[in-house]
Amino acid sequence: MERPIVEIDGDEMARVMWHWVKERLIEPYVELKVEYYDLHVKVRDETEDRVTVAAAEALKRVGVGVKCATITPNAERVKEYNLKKEWRSPNATIRERLDGTIFRAPIIVSNIQPAVRFWRKPIVIARHAVGDIYSGAGLRVGEPGEIYIVFKSASGRVSEVKIGSLSEASVVQAYYVSEKSIYSFARSVFRYALMFNMNVWFGAKDTISKVYDARFKDIFQEVYEKEFREEFTRRGLTYEYYLIDDAYSRAIRSEGGFIWATKNYDGDVLSDLIASAYSGSLAMMTSELLSPEGVYMAEAAHGTVQKHYYRYLRGEKTSTNPTAIIFAWSKGLRRRGELDGNRELIVFAERLEKAVKKTIEVDRLMTQDIARASEPPVNAVVTTEEFIDAVKKNLEHILTHQAQA
Ligand code: NAP
Ligand code: MG
Repeated sequence: MERPIVEIDGDEMARVMWHWVKERLIEPYVELKVEYYDLHVKVRDETEDRVTVAAAEALKRVGVGVKCATITPNAERVKEYNLKKEWRSPNATIRERLDGTIFRAPIIVSNIQPAVRFWRKPIVIARHAVGDIYSGAGLRVGEPGEIYIVFKSASGRVSEVKIGSLSEASVVQAYYVSEKSIYSFARSVFRYALMFNMNVWFGAKDTISKVYDARFKDIFQEVYEKEFREEFTRRGLTYEYYLIDDAYSRAIRSEGGFIWATKNYDGDVLSDLIASAYSGSLAMMTSELLSPEGVYMAEAAHGTVQKHYYRYLRGEKTSTNPTAIIFAWSKGLRRRGELDGNRELIVFAERLEKAVKKTIEVDRLMTQDIARASEPPVNAVVTTEEFIDAVKKNLEHILTHQAQA
């Protein structure tokens, strides 16, 4: 490697697995160069969370990073780790500073059948993780009256729109989102599509939401036409807008293999649904952050796997699945390789992923979370370290075999 990637360390079982993966599957095979940021919750506490901001700034500078899951402190965690306060979610801090979009992608293996039998390829959910009902306000009213949205501009102009006349007790809600964030969202989605050669869907309800959802639709279309259509056409990729209900039903009938850009609420619901429908385990799902400028960070979709960590601390061998962590590394390395024109690094990333798949599909060695979802036979339910060792064996086989070829 000529240029580094940003390595962001984290907490608990995810951190334990992170180091096993790095030491056993990456460092022996890659001349790894990293800019390391330790986001262990105690380090965040000691640095007043400045380490998180520094990691985000490093990502912007370096362009590529990999991240381990981190604790988002709540009252219990403050007590457990004796923290000064409930520091905010590192992922929220990083996403905000990069103005990025999160893409959740399932890792598909042939012996785990998705709940939808037509699905063969990943459906990647891109969630616009700002605005809509998450930035709304509600009001309960108890008598007849009229309801308006009123906007008072900073310069004193007032615009208003009547929503309706109420004849009885009702509940009301209004929300907003900045157009700038929609532009960033659209750009991140189309960029991601070009990185992975995938088609893009966007679904909303512009027939009903004639201002709000219609604006999303128009911005997506505008960004696509002006900035991406040419390259999409050259590569034979497509962008389609669907009414959201149509998108849901088409997705079920599809074979997968596309990026589904969603508004905030749809993405909230769908990312969990898709994760469960593909394999039933969050450990078979990655989460990637991409900014409109192309800054990229890969991580596992799961958290720190707290319960397994307590068992690990008691000296037990756990069967925690490191697959998504391995894929976070392979995706980060591949991105670095692509940016630098480093063919060797790209090939290594591909072989590492192949070694994981071979362990699950051919050796049929699995951690407990996927053993219960797998088609028979399962040859052995293994511990995390046994799984990593099996992947290492396959990786070495692939590396020697390919080198001879
Ligand atoms: P979690 O760490 O994802 O784990 C929830 C449960 O999912 C686990 O108890 C385990 O189920 C299963 N699981 C998750 N990952 C697994 C893996 N790799 N292998 C096998 N099973 C796996 O979520 P959580 O327990 O709700 O959250 C723990 C901490 O993670 C929290 O402090 C939260 O703030 C943090 N978190 C961080 C991120 C991030 O940094 N991106 C994301 C989410 C949560 P069983 O116990 O049934 O085996
Ligand atoms: Mg959700």
